[in-house]
Amino acid sequence: MMIGITGTPGTGKSSVADELACRGHRVVHLAGTVQRYVVEEDRCRQTLVVNVEGWASEFKPIDGIVEGHLAHFLPCDRVVVLRCRPDVLRARLSSRSYPREKIAENVEAEALDVILIETLEMHPGDAIYELDTTERTVDACADVIEQFMQGNLPPSYGRIDWTDYLVLDT
Ligand code: ADP
Ligand code: MN
Repeated sequence: MMIGITGTPGTGKSSVADELACRGHRVVHLAGTVQRYVVEEDRCRQTLVVNVEGWASEFKPIDGIVEGHLAHFLPCDRVVVLRCRPDVLRARLSSRSYPREKIAENVEAEALDVILIETLEMHPGDAIYELDTTERTVDACADVIEQFMQGNLPPSYGRIDWTDYLVLDT
């Protein structure tokens, strides 16, 4: 079974995936698998533009956890969408050396549920779990993901509404 951990940059994917790896789960950090598929480097946004279709179609599914903001484009059996309240996400991203524009774009994408919507389009009817990391430790997030992976937690999504935070970016 392949479990995807996706989410807007800064929501905590790598941190929780590292914790799950420490607990013995097989984890692939997808950032390390896209190099061959980079079609453009957007220097202004410090972002790599990836040929997602090419990458996803050539990715050999694994039995384990795949982590990254493109994870939901893979044929995962279960997908965890990490979320973070936009004001807190802004703070998390500000401690990275991200350009202003990139922080604003990511905060806005989080407020608009962009990754969740993409996940629902890719995995209609599949098991999706939205996990709010805003006030949860990495450890607590890993506990919830393990429960969901084991089938002890039913799918859950669509309860988050952060549209109020959109005003931050105007
Ligand atoms: P991603 O891989 O989704 O971009 P990271 O795991 O790199 O996110 O985490 C981004 C930042 O947020 C890091 O500074 C990390 O320490 C912090 N962080 C991650 N998860 C949590 C959490 N559950 N609670 C508080 N801070 C967190
Ligand atoms: Mn990461």
